[in-house]
Amino acid sequence: MDISYIINELGEERENYFNAIAPPIIQTSNFKFNTVADFRAALADEYQGNLYSRGFNPTIDILRKKLAALDGAEDALVFSSGIAAITVPVLALLQSGDEVICVENPYSWTIKLFQDFLPKFGVKTTFVDGTDLTAFEKAITPKTKLIYLESPNTFSFEVQNLDALSKLAKEHGILTMIDNSYCSPLYQQPIAHGIDLVAQSATKYLSGHSDVVAGVVTGKKTLLKAIFEKEYLNIGAALAPQHAWLLLRGLRTLPIRLTQISNTADKVIAYLNGHPKVAEVLHPFSNNNKDLALAKKQMKRCGGLFSITLKDPNLQKIEAFCNGLKHMLMAVSWGGYESLVIPACAGISTTDFDPKNNRHMLIRLYIGLEDADYLIADLEQALATI
Ligand SMILES: *Cc1c(COP(=O)(O)O)cnc(C)c1O
Repeated sequence: MDISYIINELGEERENYFNAIAPPIIQTSNFKFNTVADFRAALADEYQGNLYSRGFNPTIDILRKKLAALDGAEDALVFSSGIAAITVPVLALLQSGDEVICVENPYSWTIKLFQDFLPKFGVKTTFVDGTDLTAFEKAITPKTKLIYLESPNTFSFEVQNLDALSKLAKEHGILTMIDNSYCSPLYQQPIAHGIDLVAQSATKYLSGHSDVVAGVVTGKKTLLKAIFEKEYLNIGAALAPQHAWLLLRGLRTLPIRLTQISNTADKVIAYLNGHPKVAEVLHPFSNNNKDLALAKKQMKRCGGLFSITLKDPNLQKIEAFCNGLKHMLMAVSWGGYESLVIPACAGISTTDFDPKNNRHMLIRLYIGLEDADYLIADLEQALATI
């Protein structure tokens, strides 16, 4: 399907709402029925239509159609956060006694899900180096039900081989799920590589304006229906229609935002690569990535998220550099219009900080929609202070 068609037309039945160009926010909790027979049918199969907005809603449906099509998937479920779009399907797929293989160093709340939350229900997770195929093979047991990927991850940007891992999983009857937030559907299509479920934090590129928290998971209809009928409805992390509307508005400009962000990031990365105080720029298309060829095969581009290390790394210098930035804002999240910085050390107590641990030294930058020269000037003056 053409991306322009998906973004501008798919799912928009304008004749149903006065031919308005922008879709309405159907701000309702419930929907009425004319006969007991209709009501009974809706209660018996809520996946088919509108009953109650903890399940589906017409504004939500427009968004689901577009997000499914962008991923090349049969269907999509949307959630009130990205982490709900990860947690709810994972809970639905697993039972006590099952095992998960998860890539090392995924998103922070994904680690907590597998490390702290699931053990309460008797589910064990093995974390493996995602760049090492044999590590996955070795970790598989008869109890393994799910291989969970995040390619690339969003701090150190290692990539996993999606074709090889989906093939390996299929051979063992194991489901695969990926967090595709970094690439968005525009830069990576995991379903075409055989991955079963694709989750994204829609808070990031899909919404793009740092004003809504949302998530999406896409995949086969049978799988999503099973998730919807139990854990989705029971956990109740549905997206509000107003937030779905904000996401629809954000989606209109997704391709142009991503192109602009990626072009600017390329210029900023070229500047940082040549800077005497910068040791390394980490991102999937970096020449230092040992899996560069794989990254280029799976991904179209990299977008605006990457990390740097300083040549003479110590806590004082890292803090001085970050404190010195005047336009790049110090904040969590990414994917909006505003450029951001987050040093790994901000998430580590000063007593736990280990100067020998390379991950503790990372400074993650996100490039937004500002001009490249404006951002480079900000980086230049902050680097000059250290
Ligand atoms: C932000 C993020 C999430 C979580 O999404 P929320 O919308 O904040 O719940 C998951 N994965 C990645 C890679 C993220 O960056």
